[in-house]
Amino acid sequence: MNNKSHSRKLLMALLFILGALSAIVPPPAFARTESKKLNILFVSSFTKNIPAQAFFESGLDEALGFNEGRHNLFFEFMDSPRLSEEKVKGIFAKYLEEKYQGVEFDFVVVWGTIASNFLSSNNSLFANAHRVYVEPAGAELFKGRKPSEKESIIGLENDYQTALQEVLMLEHPKKIYAIGTATDSEAQNRLRLFKNSLTGEASKLEVEYLVDQTLEQVATKLEGLSRKDTVAFYLLMFSDGEGTSMTPYTVVNQLASRSAVPIYSYYDSLMGSGIVGGYVLSFEKIGFNLGQTILSLSEGKSMSAFSPMRHVYDWNAIQRWKIAESKLPEGAIILNHPPDIFAQYRWHILAGVTLIIVLSSLSLFLFKALSRSKYAEAALSRREANLNSALQVARNGGFIFDNSKDSVTRSEGTKEVFGVPAESKLSYRAFLQIVHPDDREYMDAMWQAALKGVPFDIEYRVIVDEKTKWIRSRVEVEFDSKGLLIVAKGIVQDVSERKKSEEEAARLRRDLAHVTRVATIGELGHNIAHEVNQPLAAIAANAEAVMRLLKETEPDLEEVREALGDIVSDQKRASEVVQRIRTLVKKDRSVHAPVDLNSVAQDAIRVVQGDAAARDARILLNLDAGLPQVWGDKVQLQQVVINLLVNALDAMDCEATKPYRITVKTVGESAGGATLSVSDTGVGIDAGTAGRLFEPFFTTKSRGMGLGLSISRSIVEAHGGTIRAAANDDRGATFCLDLPIVAPECVDGHPTSCPRIRS
Ligand code: ADP
Repeated sequence: MNNKSHSRKLLMALLFILGALSAIVPPPAFARTESKKLNILFVSSFTKNIPAQAFFESGLDEALGFNEGRHNLFFEFMDSPRLSEEKVKGIFAKYLEEKYQGVEFDFVVVWGTIASNFLSSNNSLFANAHRVYVEPAGAELFKGRKPSEKESIIGLENDYQTALQEVLMLEHPKKIYAIGTATDSEAQNRLRLFKNSLTGEASKLEVEYLVDQTLEQVATKLEGLSRKDTVAFYLLMFSDGEGTSMTPYTVVNQLASRSAVPIYSYYDSLMGSGIVGGYVLSFEKIGFNLGQTILSLSEGKSMSAFSPMRHVYDWNAIQRWKIAESKLPEGAIILNHPPDIFAQYRWHILAGVTLIIVLSSLSLFLFKALSRSKYAEAALSRREANLNSALQVARNGGFIFDNSKDSVTRSEGTKEVFGVPAESKLSYRAFLQIVHPDDREYMDAMWQAALKGVPFDIEYRVIVDEKTKWIRSRVEVEFDSKGLLIVAKGIVQDVSERKKSEEEAARLRRDLAHVTRVATIGELGHNIAHEVNQPLAAIAANAEAVMRLLKETEPDLEEVREALGDIVSDQKRASEVVQRIRTLVKKDRSVHAPVDLNSVAQDAIRVVQGDAAARDARILLNLDAGLPQVWGDKVQLQQVVINLLVNALDAMDCEATKPYRITVKTVGESAGGATLSVSDTGVGIDAGTAGRLFEPFFTTKSRGMGLGLSISRSIVEAHGGTIRAAANDDRGATFCLDLPIVAPECVDGHPTSCPRIRS
């Protein structure tokens, strides 16, 4: 396909689409003409306040837009059904003439037979206006003469025949009641047309006319009818048989409410009154078509076709008379149909549905939250159970001391440990009664220290069922911002088994230590003998030589001097040997770090506690919670404290010094030091030996080596501290370590500027 033909085809397709669009887009209801504002007079046979008039005006306005001021419309009513036709005719012409004097009408629309007859016989009225007659029997009007150029007629010949056919199709009635009046020519005309329409199928109908009867008479009649095979047809009543004027709508409304048979009619203006409806005349359509006709005529065009009929039914009536919707003619309009529930209550439903969704989501959320909380609760109790059983397996129990409530909550495992059910109350006083009498003071002191913030990790004995158990307790305490205790949480563990093995191990160790000590002494003795014997022998030989020389009458003083010089150098050699042994014993690999003397004390106690218990000795702690850290080697410092504890235990190895008690105390000093002291209730230190305690090989013990304190002093001095001993006032001795504390910059990680331990 070449380009030219392609673009032509595109153009044609575009034109086709535009054409199609113009065909499907309806033309505007009223083609606005700005050229001239028309003056239109509407003269009606009927009355003003009837629904038909309102429908008619609505259609007319849609076509002409007179309410927007596009054209001027004036309405006049002869009220003929209600007033004397003759009387009105007599004064109406004069009335109109005078009323509209000076108004040039372009169109006079004449509605109904009476008004048509009246104006037809008053040609001088609005002589320049184009007259448009709208009336059923229009043809009758011009029987005698031809309409002039300025006269148009819209014949609304009532098509009762089609209306009746529709009734027959729906109901298959055998009898029909025609309701109407014959009081005026309009009404007579309607009756005549109705009778004329009873042809074909309708001719078989039995017809009874309820004409010019009172409203009550008609209602009573209808009331008494049988629904079967019977219908009524309403031909309008503007007044009843007694001349009481009323509107057709009001009449049929009352009749329909009492009627035992369905009432059909011919006017859509009566819809809603209770009539079934049918093939009806639409006054709105008439108004609209008439408006369009006026516009066509004003532009010099011919009249457009009228199609004012439509199939209209009232949903309430067809329900009442059980007329199947499926039987209604195609395209029938059903009025008063309850809108489908969604259309009517769309927003309510949407709001409701939204609310339901929101509430459902909320419920779901709450349900889930509840499930979660239940699940969490279940998980928690599961965890609690697991924890309990894990604690039990580990022969552990847990407890929480709530200070505000002064209550202790315990896990199941504590029953195993203390022999008291977890649920039963166990006061601190009652708990202390379980603690072994020898450990109560220690336990209490530690607990009080713990409540002040000193870490609590101790081992003590309890007596449960007359059996002694070893318990290890670790406690952590929490304080509020003001330093007040909130809660203390702890774990208790039955360590009796471990203790048993430890005691066994300790016994073995003691035995081994004895063997080792003997071996060491033997070794050292051999070494010492080997190393020291030589200088000692030399010293002895030189001393003998000096004595011999001095016995001579003229001693050779030079030789004496030489011998004495040898003695001095040999003494130095012997000292060096001892120094070498000290160095051998001393641990020389140091780890430099800030050390907490409190934990050093606790660790050391733990090591000797077994021995202490075996010897019926109690160790008490009196620790300073605010103790600053010292700089050094924790293990070396532990060795020192262990040595002091062992010495203390040794010093108490005598019935006379009972009860055996060791107190380990720490104190932070403002002068930049920290002190750890170990006091005992042992034999104490007598004045004669006090100055020699730290000398190497000084011992008062049968199996002692006399090196412990000597090495301890070396270690402490290497840390920049001092060690001293003093006899207590009452009994026993106290050994004190004074150590310099760590400068803040050392704690903060500047070890190069921090003190070093001399090795
Ligand atoms: P050892 O324990 O082998 O004797 P030490 O150097 O540790 O060696 O102790 C030296 C000596 O100091 C002991 O033999 C003892 O006479 C004395 N001593 C040490 N500690 C105490 C103490 N707590 N109470 C009384 N004397 C003590």
